[in-house]
Amino acid sequence: MANDNQNQVLDAQTDTADEKSVKRVRKAKPKASEGGSTASLFGIEPYQPKKNEEYMSEGQLEHFRRILLAWKAELMSEVDRTLNTMQDENTALPDVNDRATQEEEFAIELRTRDRERKLIRKIEQSIEAIKNDDYGFCETCGIEIGLRRLEARPTATLCIDCKTLAEIKEKQNNG
Ligand SMILES: [Zn+2]
Repeated sequence: MANDNQNQVLDAQTDTADEKSVKRVRKAKPKASEGGSTASLFGIEPYQPKKNEEYMSEGQLEHFRRILLAWKAELMSEVDRTLNTMQDENTALPDVNDRATQEEEFAIELRTRDRERKLIRKIEQSIEAIKNDDYGFCETCGIEIGLRRLEARPTATLCIDCKTLAEIKEKQNNG
C-alpha cells in the first residue's frame, strides 16, 4: 500500500507541472513579425526594369525609396505598439509567478525592439544613400549589388561575394 501512496504523490506532482507548462503556453503571445520583412509585405511589386534601362535609374531609386520608407514606418509603428502594450500590461498583478513570466516577456520584447531600432538606423542609412546616389553599389568593391538582391534585402550594402567573404571572416574571428 505504501507504493500506491507514493504513486499518488508522484501523480500529483506531475499534474502541477503540467498545469504550469499549460499556463506558460497559454500566456505566450504570437510573434507579430518574425522575419520576412521584405518588399512584398508592403504591397510593392518587384521592379520590372525596361529594356536597356540603366542600373539605379530614377525609377529604380524611387522604387527602393518607397520600400525603405514603408518598411521603416512599419517598424516604427511596431515599436510604438509594444511600448503601449507594456504600459497597459504593467498594472497590478497579484500572482508573483505571473509577474515573473511577464518580466521575461518584457525582456524578450525589449531585445526585439533593440534589433528593430538598429534595423531602422540601417534603413535610414539606405535612404540617405539613395539621396546621395550611392545606393545599390557594393561598399567594398564597388560593383552593382543587383536588383534581385536588393529586392530581398533592401538595406544590403555589400554584393553577395563581399558579403559571403565578410561572413567567413566574422566566423573565423568569433571561433
Ligand atoms: Zn563587393
